Amino acid sequence: MKQTFFTVGPSQLYPTIPGHIKNALQENIFSLSHRSKRFSEIYKETATNLRQLLNIPATHHIFFTSCALEGMERTIQNTVEKKSFHFVNGSFSREFWQIAVDLKKDVERFDGPNDEGFDFANAKIPKNTELICVVQNETSIGVAIPMEEIYQLKTENPQALIAIDVVSSIPYITIDFSLIDITIFSVQKGFGLPAGLGVLIVNEKALEKASLLAKKNSNIGSYHNFPKLLEFEKKFQTRETPNVGTIYLLGKVTEDMLAYGIETIRNETENKVKLIYDFFENYKKYQPYVKDPYRSKTTIVIDVNGESEKIVKKLAEKGYIVSQGYGKRKDMHMRIANFPSLSIQQVKNFLKQFST
Ligand SMILES: *Cc1c(COP(=O)(O)O)cnc(C)c1O
Repeated sequence: MKQTFFTVGPSQLYPTIPGHIKNALQENIFSLSHRSKRFSEIYKETATNLRQLLNIPATHHIFFTSCALEGMERTIQNTVEKKSFHFVNGSFSREFWQIAVDLKKDVERFDGPNDEGFDFANAKIPKNTELICVVQNETSIGVAIPMEEIYQLKTENPQALIAIDVVSSIPYITIDFSLIDITIFSVQKGFGLPAGLGVLIVNEKALEKASLLAKKNSNIGSYHNFPKLLEFEKKFQTRETPNVGTIYLLGKVTEDMLAYGIETIRNETENKVKLIYDFFENYKKYQPYVKDPYRSKTTIVIDVNGESEKIVKKLAEKGYIVSQGYGKRKDMHMRIANFPSLSIQQVKNFLKQFST
């Protein structure tokens, strides 16, 4: 049976992926040396396309990691000597906080509700905070923080660096990089790629902080510390043998997205999500979980009254794969992805499954 993945990650592959994998095999991309000229061309092409698609300025560097969690760990190691501050409302923001705890930092956290945004005005961020961490789209509960609220945090705390996790909102979300020091994501969600590749976008200020910490003999890690990542990025290389295949595919998919138009992708995302929320707003049995205006446009959480196992099974029988709730909310929630790989028609067909 044909299956469509409305799962929030890994998710439906971008429609052009099969063709690109075929070409990659023909071009022997999977056997390519990461010290070859061809690999450097691929790194450069992928970074150039990402820059154009997401409007990343020259002040920011593009590094490849193995996943988003690695991006979180590298960020803490390289920018925090003592104090980081974390906004926590779900499992991934808790993970970011936990990484800082495990790295023995002096960690502060401000907890938020799991069905709406944070009361940022009441978060007392100490003046000696070196890094503020925000998961912009908390995939576990479907809460999205408006970028304006994050920019305001930065404006009010200019001494601190700010790191955002946009794993499940990129490339839909628009980022003003002049107000964000570090951006973390991986590619198996919104980009519709196979898992196993992370992207870390880091500005000069964060790189300077890493060099300063290294000078102070603080532990900034080894092969993927910021100075090492920078040294290799200059040659369009990586220190380790990277996921060459997925870096290649990311370059191709971003090229396709550029041709299709990022504004078209963003408009379609909004049109599709409106169909989904409107449908469940008017559906007696199951309701959207998150309160507006904090509802995610890319990962939708529906409160299904503890029936998620039954629903997920029934949908799977029709070829529609969705996610159950995360962690302790497994039975309570159904989570639906609205990533660029899914068309309006696929969303309409999916919603029809509930009326019957
Ligand atoms: C999936 C997810 C992660 C973890 O990504 P990995 O690539 O598995 O490390 C982190 N943050 C958010 C918000 C996510 O949705």
